[in-house]
Amino acid sequence: MKHLIAANWKMNGDFSWTSKPKQLRDIVGNSPNIDILLCPPAHLLKAMNDACMGLDIAIGAQNCHDKTSGAFTGEISAKMVKDCGADYVILGHSERRAMFGDNDDWVARKTIAAQAVGLIPIICVGETEEVRQAGQAEEIVGQQIAASLEGEINGGKLVVAYEPVWAIGTGLVPSLEDIATMHDHIRGCLVARFGEQIAIAIKILYGGSVKPENAKDILALQDVNGALIGGAGLEMQSLAAIAKSAP
Ligand code: PEP
Repeated sequence: MKHLIAANWKMNGDFSWTSKPKQLRDIVGNSPNIDILLCPPAHLLKAMNDACMGLDIAIGAQNCHDKTSGAFTGEISAKMVKDCGADYVILGHSERRAMFGDNDDWVARKTIAAQAVGLIPIICVGETEEVRQAGQAEEIVGQQIAASLEGEINGGKLVVAYEPVWAIGTGLVPSLEDIATMHDHIRGCLVARFGEQIAIAIKILYGGSVKPENAKDILALQDVNGALIGGAGLEMQSLAAIAKSAP
């Protein structure tokens, strides 16, 4: 399976950033072994989609609402995201869960809404530091997966991202063994949810302080099918270095 190298730009970027996809492709060169995805803030989705034409770089949003339209000030629907040309949407990022009230139930409904318009949802799960220290990381991540994928969800059009909350933006990274163990556990949860045939084809990304220095080892792990990158994805030099280290 091709690795997916996805950059989450969070609330960063302006129209001058539309030069970045070309810059990225120039550094990476041909990359038949990977898919590249840029997730800019919503105001840049359409312009970034235009800027990515012919570059084989996909665009994704960082969130969407589960309703198609209506009185939801400040929100963007899955259909609106799709209308901008996006192919993916990140759902349930830990910042959304911690700051904006996204819970498993909402993530599940957003996932259904996203798939209904043809977007591929990237479902983020991950434990807090307290949970890991209590030895409950696998249990909690398993619960998040089950609850965030509840309902009429198509396992064939889905990506999962394991992002330990304590590793996001901190420079801290789990040991390679811990990442491998968690990804194996997540694969097992997906098999239980969707059956073996579908589950083995679901990409499971790792996210949390991925840098050019650690990407090669992380991306080489069994059941790590790509990376979701925050800080190191803002600069095309470092994002390209991560992309090039994919096996
Ligand atoms: C993220 O926010 O999804 C993330 C992985 O951030 P960082 O790479 O900066 O840890």
